[in-house]
Amino acid sequence: MQLNSPYPATMPLTGFLLSQQIATTQLDLGIELIDTIFTSKQLSILLDEIEHLPKLSKRSRQLLVHRSFIVTYIEPAIRFLRNQDLTLANRFSQPLFWQDVIGESDEEHLLFGFGESGVVDQAKYLTTRFIKEIAQLIQETTHPHFQLIRYAESLTVRLPDFAPLEQELLSNPTTIDLLMLQLLHKHIQENDPEWIGLSVPFPGNLYGAMRCAQYVKQNFPNIKVVMGGGYVNTELRQIEDVSFFKYVDYLTFDDGELPLLRLFTGGELIRTAFLKDGNIYWSNRDSVENISFSNWGNPSMVGIKQSLYLDMVETTNPMHRLWSVGRWNKLMMAHGCYWAKCTFCDTRLDYIGRFEQASAAIVVDRMESLMAQTNISGFHFVDEAAPPALLRKIAEEILSRKLVVSYWVNIRFDKTFTPELSYLLAKSGCIAVSGGLEVASERVLKLINKGVTVDSARLCMENLSQQGIMVHAYLMYGFPTQTVSELYDSLTQVRNLFQIGVLQSAFWHRYAMTIHSPSGNSPESIGAKAVEHAVGSFANNEIPFITQPDIDWDKYAQGLSLATYNYMQGTGFELPIKKWFK
Ligand code: SF4
Repeated sequence: MQLNSPYPATMPLTGFLLSQQIATTQLDLGIELIDTIFTSKQLSILLDEIEHLPKLSKRSRQLLVHRSFIVTYIEPAIRFLRNQDLTLANRFSQPLFWQDVIGESDEEHLLFGFGESGVVDQAKYLTTRFIKEIAQLIQETTHPHFQLIRYAESLTVRLPDFAPLEQELLSNPTTIDLLMLQLLHKHIQENDPEWIGLSVPFPGNLYGAMRCAQYVKQNFPNIKVVMGGGYVNTELRQIEDVSFFKYVDYLTFDDGELPLLRLFTGGELIRTAFLKDGNIYWSNRDSVENISFSNWGNPSMVGIKQSLYLDMVETTNPMHRLWSVGRWNKLMMAHGCYWAKCTFCDTRLDYIGRFEQASAAIVVDRMESLMAQTNISGFHFVDEAAPPALLRKIAEEILSRKLVVSYWVNIRFDKTFTPELSYLLAKSGCIAVSGGLEVASERVLKLINKGVTVDSARLCMENLSQQGIMVHAYLMYGFPTQTVSELYDSLTQVRNLFQIGVLQSAFWHRYAMTIHSPSGNSPESIGAKAVEHAVGSFANNEIPFITQPDIDWDKYAQGLSLATYNYMQGTGFELPIKKWFK
């Protein structure tokens, strides 16, 4: 979840259900909760709780000294990050204004990142640090589960058994839980629903969703609760623990359109698990029946409180800012990935493995519908990897309708992104792309089955960046059989790409073997051996494995991010690669 735009899962579902004449609304409890917590009144209550603690860290004590400042400036700060009062920019852009609360700021770094005239951005950067300091204070003292964009993730990130989560649910709700439940209560009273659907995209959303489900069961026993989303699809396919169904009536898997339609209107249930005679019953678990992507209808923003979203400027990197700044309309141009062959990727799951496209006209109709609903012309296409041929047609359609839009999109660094296609994309409003370069080493790229070489990826990046399109790369380390020397080579390639100006941003992920990927299905095909492990009765995703050489990759994580952070700022190119690692 981000704080600048709603997560894209519920809008297509809501639009589809409305198109079937099923009265539906949606809400983003996450942003509504942030809106409730970060007020003078609510923060005063939380700070009272904190002040009564017997033991506090030095940093917490320092912050509490500035309690009056925090309570006075929290609401103007939130208004400012919502772009509702930009006249505050001059005050908020001064490091001295915040210094006592957020600590010192590196003036040289600020000048480099924002220049003399980037007053609004610099102010947002410093104000974001203010909000993060408060969030950290809350987390370190009274509410260890609280984070700005996730909740209780440490509890849910690996959860083979449901028991630890249930134990937490059986303890008293915290002040923050109660605030969330009050919001839910209000929405239930206003809408009087027969069903509540909870979309859980990540582990960091599970606890909050389960607290809501528990509240509904305890207080509104006639409402049926159904849960789906990325976390369910990925982790809960082997669920055996019946206690989970005390809270949730139905789990649906993969695309939710048809399973929900059947639940709400009758007919044979598909890809749905529920409790029957005390056991988990699966109705048509492997059904491939779906509403075609072209027939989903226009996404709907009904129920989403667009004015509550916040711009959080956490780095000075322009590409990173796209993720957390601006109210991007989120949309998919196709279902699944047109390549669907990378060995680390969850290609055996429907949302990646089943490729289906709509026509360019339908995609651009959906864009126009969202623009009319939000008054915003920026789009983030959230496809796993946009198909270049369709992207071309969409660009042509945007130009022929004379739409003024900006968009960014995930791609594969495919050789089809020629200078001509890159020109067309830029003309139609494409401002940035992100794609996987993974391990930038020819041998490992082959093992990954990425279908690109370092040279072809460089050419693709060059073509795009020559048209002013920013490029972000996802990088990977710790792939089975990878050597330290290949890691150094990979970082060297990345450094070169930054240095010649064809890459503006990058992020490293540690390889994880998952049960839905080709590598998890056949570890030996990539030179690994799965370690015997018990299958959990609740969530299952990662597979422990061994490989040669056996390297402690944790030792390299910090060096990789430090080097890349420097390259993104345009520094550190002269330092020998090995120097980044202790
Ligand atoms: S990693 Fe990206 S390109 Fe590869 S299969 Fe997955 S979605 Fe497709």
